[in-house]
Amino acid sequence: SVVTRFAPSPTGFLHIGGARTALFNWLYARGRGGKFLLRIEDTDRARSTPDATQAILQGLKWLGLDWDGGVVSQHEGATRHAEVAHQLLNAGKAYKCFSTQDEIAAFRDQARAAGTSTLFRSPWRDAAPADHPDAPHVVRIKAPLEGTTVIRDRVQGDVTIGNDQLDDMVLLRSDGSPVYMLAVVVDDHDMGVTHVIRGDDHLNNAARQMLIYEAMGWNVPVWAHIPLIHGPDGKKLSKRHGALAAREYQAMGYPAAGMRNYLARLGWSHGDAEFFTDEQALEWFDFDGIGKSPARFDTKKLENLCGRHIAATDDAALLHELQDFIAVTERRALTRTQAETMERAMYCLKDRARTFPELLKKAAFILNDRPIVPDETAAGHLDSVSRRILGELTPHLQSASWTREGLEAATSAFADAKEIKFGKMAGPLRAALAGRSVTPSVFDMMLVLGREESLARITEAAQ
Ligand code: GLU
Repeated sequence: SVVTRFAPSPTGFLHIGGARTALFNWLYARGRGGKFLLRIEDTDRARSTPDATQAILQGLKWLGLDWDGGVVSQHEGATRHAEVAHQLLNAGKAYKCFSTQDEIAAFRDQARAAGTSTLFRSPWRDAAPADHPDAPHVVRIKAPLEGTTVIRDRVQGDVTIGNDQLDDMVLLRSDGSPVYMLAVVVDDHDMGVTHVIRGDDHLNNAARQMLIYEAMGWNVPVWAHIPLIHGPDGKKLSKRHGALAAREYQAMGYPAAGMRNYLARLGWSHGDAEFFTDEQALEWFDFDGIGKSPARFDTKKLENLCGRHIAATDDAALLHELQDFIAVTERRALTRTQAETMERAMYCLKDRARTFPELLKKAAFILNDRPIVPDETAAGHLDSVSRRILGELTPHLQSASWTREGLEAATSAFADAKEIKFGKMAGPLRAALAGRSVTPSVFDMMLVLGREESLARITEAAQ
């Protein structure tokens, strides 16, 4: 069965590219009843930080990309990685190389002068191993000198590398510590990884990693190297294109479902489907739909999809997400009454909202208590004429049945009698009910707030 993994280096936040890689691995495994594993590649001790690991885990959790088992630390496997190097040494597939840095530099200088390959060819490759038992040395793999290495990649096709391009890569440094390239292969093998899906900046590594698989006689995983993400201008995605960190999108209030949908579409497609559910993505995701050229990040499209996901999410679930958002960004919680009212009002709050802040903006009439303090624009709708109109309208609302039809009938009868357009009343009513000028419809607000509260607000504003 399928086993994939996400293997970030904890040197910074979870960026959009990493989030997309994680999502592709998650979709591929989960869509096939397989396992999705998480390995933190913390072998670079100087650059790896626990904060970065936490940020990555938090980002994955926000995106709903759950992994199987614990979080594997690559650094903790160092002994095992070195053990594999020793196995290769004992099998004659690797050797101790005693060449010093100066000797290697001299080799390169000579090669450059002679116009031959500067790939270092160690004189120790075929020397008797006992020659320098105690001298400092590295352990190198015996790479094939002739022929080719073919990476059968599910996205890039067959990528062929001449073995004359591959040197005898170092497996163990002179202090005995394993190199990153060895750690990746050993971990992927030991974790039973069947499919490696990652950025195509790792394509060259795949050739070198294959040498280790072959030397150990291990099954090579299926490779899928996916093109990187570019900005709208076609250049490599960078800070000038806006946010790079997954957590910034969370802070901007994009719903995770919309983000997953958008990230899935970044470099992958299924016919002309743009908006889809997780269930559909899980069913459809395959390598055939991954494009060969870099995808371009498009904020408009992200917002559009997020709006559609907000509209499609059921009210209780949306309230839950909204509460999480408020907890994370504002470090506060809704009162129970606010939460209940929000859930009842969700049908009109989510209308056309693309982000949680947009949704919350429309919820001002629920979150603000009496006395309602109008903002500047709303205050402009409460001049003396408007206040008089509100005062005269009040008894008509009082006697209306508190339904959409009843309220609409009462207001339009009043507007007809006074020969004023309904539009002239909407601004003052919004100001009275919400203290804002951008709100759900006045009837939605009155229905959500109820008779007593609505009339109290209108009466106060009419004073
Ligand atoms: N740790 C590598 C990175 O963060 C990924 C290596 C891999 O997926 O094999 O770019």
